[in-house]
Amino acid sequence: MRELLDLSPAELEAYFASIGEPRYRARQVFEWAWKHLVRDFSAMTNLPVPLRERLSREFAIGAASPGATVMDAEEGTEKVLLVLADGEAIETVLMRDADRRTVCVSTQVGCPVGCAFCATGRMGFRRDLTSGEIALQVLFFARRLKGEGERVTHVVLMGMGEPLLNYEATLKAIRNLNHPWGLNIGARRFTVSTVGIVPGILRLAREGIQLNLAISLHAPWDGLRAELVPATKRYPIADVLAAAEQYTRATKRRVTYEYVLIDGVNDSPAAARALARLLAGRLAHVNLIPFNPAPGLPFRRPPLSRVEAFKRALLARGIDVTVRYSRGVRIQAGCGQLRAARLGATPR
Ligand code: SF4
Repeated sequence: MRELLDLSPAELEAYFASIGEPRYRARQVFEWAWKHLVRDFSAMTNLPVPLRERLSREFAIGAASPGATVMDAEEGTEKVLLVLADGEAIETVLMRDADRRTVCVSTQVGCPVGCAFCATGRMGFRRDLTSGEIALQVLFFARRLKGEGERVTHVVLMGMGEPLLNYEATLKAIRNLNHPWGLNIGARRFTVSTVGIVPGILRLAREGIQLNLAISLHAPWDGLRAELVPATKRYPIADVLAAAEQYTRATKRRVTYEYVLIDGVNDSPAAARALARLLAGRLAHVNLIPFNPAPGLPFRRPPLSRVEAFKRALLARGIDVTVRYSRGVRIQAGCGQLRAARLGATPR
């Protein structure tokens, strides 16, 4: 059975043409699935019954079932393990802030990047998600919020996986979620988070879509960065920054640099100075994320005084910076932690 959410509006039109149906069926079906959020063809009351029956024989809509769910009411965070049609499981998080409802989605099952400080990275890579599997995570929480009279306002591609290593599916999911026939989430409300896959950044710059770009740098020196984020060895920091510059020129969007602060590893005054030198004069913002301890990971969170000193060092050199304590620490919402706990995965 095919997944309906894998299809773009143009592909739906081609499908309906191929079975002798008028083009407008594509819009009707897309609206039911992506705007009204139905999962059952029998609810598509403006379609003839035989067509509804045919569609339900050929397609599933958002084929995933929620497994473990963990909530933290105080933080407004809810994390769900979604089990896909083939039994693989991915994590999706809903974050509720004042007027924002942000869904953090996964783009791969596991991750090939292998960051030393990340539970998902240590699980290894299983497979890419399809565009429908990426989008259904947003629709899952959109359905939940709709019941509460609310809607998804922002999407961050920061869950399991590296979005720019699953480029086509990621972009297709974004375009479908952005489509006026569906949820119509504005392009500027998406953030693509990458470890700095240079060809992917350059390609994204040519898409003509104003997405936010977040680059996980984590170190100001290539040697240390290669230890912390092994898959980025091929992309020296200078090349990553040049690609980011091109992205900013093409989209006029400020680039965010994510930097996980790890006790005694990358949190020294020298590292802060080096980072400031790298980013001086760029349209950039730094998110400092004190490391979120996880079972089996050999790192610690730096003391608050060192986090503050690092931040002050950047500010003193004119770099915009925010300290973000990662959400959901108490509900194991750190990257890959719910899946690891549920599936009993042990770090290598
Ligand atoms: S931090 Fe992100 S890129 Fe690094 S291993 Fe984890 S999921 Fe992959």
